[in-house]
Amino acid sequence: MAEVIRSLTHLLEVASSRRFLAVVEPGDRGLAESLPFPFVSIVGEWEMKLSLLLAVINPAIGGVLLLGPRGTGKTTAVRSLSPLLPDVARSLCAYGCMPEDVETGGVESICPDCARKLGQGEPLTFVDRSRLIELPLHSELGDVIGGIDERAAVHQRMQIKPGILSHADRNLLYVDEVNLLKREVADAILDAAAQGVYTVRRGPVSATYRARFILVGSMNPEEGMLRPQIADRFGLRALVRGLGNSTERWEAYQRSHAFERNPRGVIEYYREETHTIRDEILAARNRVADVELSPETVRCGLEAIQQLGVSSLRGTSVLFEAARAYAAADGRDRADPSDLNAVAILALRMRRSDFMDRYAAEQEQEDKAILESFQQVEGKTQP
Ligand SMILES: [Zn+2]
Repeated sequence: MAEVIRSLTHLLEVASSRRFLAVVEPGDRGLAESLPFPFVSIVGEWEMKLSLLLAVINPAIGGVLLLGPRGTGKTTAVRSLSPLLPDVARSLCAYGCMPEDVETGGVESICPDCARKLGQGEPLTFVDRSRLIELPLHSELGDVIGGIDERAAVHQRMQIKPGILSHADRNLLYVDEVNLLKREVADAILDAAAQGVYTVRRGPVSATYRARFILVGSMNPEEGMLRPQIADRFGLRALVRGLGNSTERWEAYQRSHAFERNPRGVIEYYREETHTIRDEILAARNRVADVELSPETVRCGLEAIQQLGVSSLRGTSVLFEAARAYAAADGRDRADPSDLNAVAILALRMRRSDFMDRYAAEQEQEDKAILESFQQVEGKTQP
């Protein structure tokens, strides 16, 4: 790379706007489906790329909803994140005991086997890759949360088989066509995402699983909108508009054409930038917990939210968490009002409810009428 990279966002700008030199020879066909397209090679769609990065850097944002028509590369972009996801600690134990359980609940909160290990100074976890888990289309509630293990049931044992949500723990869960999910399935996913755990009950047996995942949903608004209470639970909302001009379109075509012919060649072509962006994400993720909001940032954020009439408390939290992630991506330990500007649209759009505004206004009218009639009655009865 000739240019000096200043920050994660700068790298993304440089890498995705660099002209693709068609030096990748056709070769090694096939397997393109299992190999992800390099994230840094995605042309344009700044909003989509930025929101995905922020969600990975700061899980407290609560994930992303990508809104756009078919064929705009939403699924490709989400899949391209998988080599960039940071490593995570996973439990070595079938009960999922973690060292942080001991910190919060004491040694009684882990199983006897793990307590023994802890006493002997043995590790409870191992370092593993974070993965992309895709929710299959038309998933049923049983697939998602788990259910009775049929094989165990044959042997007269009641046992619960974990569902997709438990496999999503410490991973990224991608739900395509989230607006077409069954209501109960969407509720189960969002509850688990909010709480980080979920419980399955089937008759006399129950099991609780961890499910701390980064949730990414995508949908085509032409095929039906989300229920407002579901849309509100996604941290950021990115509009995926399609490419803006023919230069970008030609560039995108060349890259995807080269990738179809030789995916490994294209991945190799972007190898250095992919490594850099992975390192930058990791550094930003480690930094984000220490990023402070300057007093000016807090004041600006709260005032803007008040002015806009965003009533959802989640909006406030997402705005500040996204600003902290943006500052961390820029290598800073303090978030300033400019960081709010950079993320405000992603964090706050589609959170205002016209219905609630009208509803509240109508209610105020009625309340006023009630008070007035009482005042009149009081006036008449007074001597
Ligand atoms: Zn254990």
